Amino acid sequence: MSDLMAKVVILGAGHAGGSAAAFLRQYGHEGPIVLIGDEPIPPYQRPPLSKAWLKGEADADSLTLKPASWYAENNCDLRLGVTAVSIDRAARTVVLSTGDAVAYDFLIIATGARARKLPIPGADLDGVLELRTAADAERLKSALGPDKRLAIIGGGYIGLEAAASARALGSWALIIERESRILARVACEELSSFFQSYHQAHGVNFELGAEIKAFEGESGHVRQIRLADGRVVACDAALVGVGAVPNEEIAKGAGLNCVNGIVVDLQARTEDPLVFAIGDVTHRPLPLYDRQFRLESVPNALEQAKQVACAITGRPSPSPEVPWFWSDQYDLKLQIAGMPFDADTIIVRGDPAAAKFAIFHLKGDQLQAVEAVNAPPEFMMGKQLIASRKPVSRERLADTSISMKEVAA
Ligand code: FAD
Ligand code: NAP
Repeated sequence: MSDLMAKVVILGAGHAGGSAAAFLRQYGHEGPIVLIGDEPIPPYQRPPLSKAWLKGEADADSLTLKPASWYAENNCDLRLGVTAVSIDRAARTVVLSTGDAVAYDFLIIATGARARKLPIPGADLDGVLELRTAADAERLKSALGPDKRLAIIGGGYIGLEAAASARALGSWALIIERESRILARVACEELSSFFQSYHQAHGVNFELGAEIKAFEGESGHVRQIRLADGRVVACDAALVGVGAVPNEEIAKGAGLNCVNGIVVDLQARTEDPLVFAIGDVTHRPLPLYDRQFRLESVPNALEQAKQVACAITGRPSPSPEVPWFWSDQYDLKLQIAGMPFDADTIIVRGDPAAAKFAIFHLKGDQLQAVEAVNAPPEFMMGKQLIASRKPVSRERLADTSISMKEVAA
């Protein structure tokens, strides 16, 4: 049987799984595709859940990856509200929560990540929320509005985007962060301090270096948060945004190698040639940086969905991409390209006071990463420089009278 006729089973109908099904068909795959998802709705985009959708600026239909009719029209057997329970690699089957066993020729694990829980008293009270799914976003939206108090635990992307949206809807908002600065895991100190000031100017409150001890409630609903130093903060709802944990248990159970994510190669293949993994659940190679990493982003989900579709349909592997990320908060468009691993110098180009600047991270004369705020040319050209590995002059990079095109030439 040609691989184009093989039966492909995809576990997880999220951004990566839904995109893999679409790329397989786009690249001419003719065999059956079974897409299994435990959520009740077809694959959708999560980014608007903390941004435009939460603010009421986008409707639910605009979130879908493909129109609902696409799956039947493209002979894709979409099974919703069904959890994949275990994989038998010897028998090449997956057991589902329905009790059915589905056979595969190729298996793609695209189970994503889940919101990390806080193991503290009161975490199960009503009004203690997380934000990963459309259903979570509905709950958060109904807790926002004028005169509502939202406490947010975690100053990462979820926390900051939700705070900006909460303020747009008139809510009071407080971010409680364990580290001494926000975005500690994903951005440099200069950027953290810029974003904190911008949020403060928009009325967001901060408690940094603060540990939370318990959620406390009345009649089963959260009413306040107790901090480790004894202080209490009153709130109507609490959003926990303290990171994401990969849904790798099903792969571990099947004996696949997992190291904070399922270990895959540049074709998104695990050590089993018939089993692939893509998206937030993977620990993948970053060839530009000569290391393995778990990326949590839409561009990564799309890149690996292409990799697996190429591998199964016999196309050459796509060239590795520079990892990139974005975040929208207020009128700020943050775009990040690359990873600042081993960088020894930071160059700021532009004016943070005007909310239009970029921070370049260099290792010697090579650009490792760029963090750009309202600065698309710096992001685009920076991304190209990271990919090309061209040496770059620090002086020219800092000089805004020289265009980014010229700097990158
Ligand atoms: P997911 O989209 O999480 O999909 C995995 C799916 O698999 C889920 O539906 C899950 O329920 C299902 N599943 C898990 N286990 C099983 C099982 N055993 N059986 C069946 N189904 C299962 N990224 C950006 O690049 N830019 C952004 O601005 C951005 N904003 C975001 C905002 C929010 C609120 C969130 C939550 C994420 C955001 N992200 C953003 C991250 C981005 O959405 C993820 O990186 C992306 O969704 C990863 O795709 P995935 O398919 O790997 O995982
Ligand atoms: P995140 O970016 O990892 O940020 C979590 C933050 O919470 C970190 O700063 C973390 O600090 C802090 N934290 C952890 N434990 C804490 C505690 N007990 N008390 C207070 N703070 C604590 O994760 P996230 O913001 O929750 O996002 C979840 C997922 O959604 C990620 O996959 C993220 O990439 C994705 N997402 C992406 C975007 C985007 O790309 N624009 C937007 C929204 C969501 P430490 O560093 O000390 O752990």
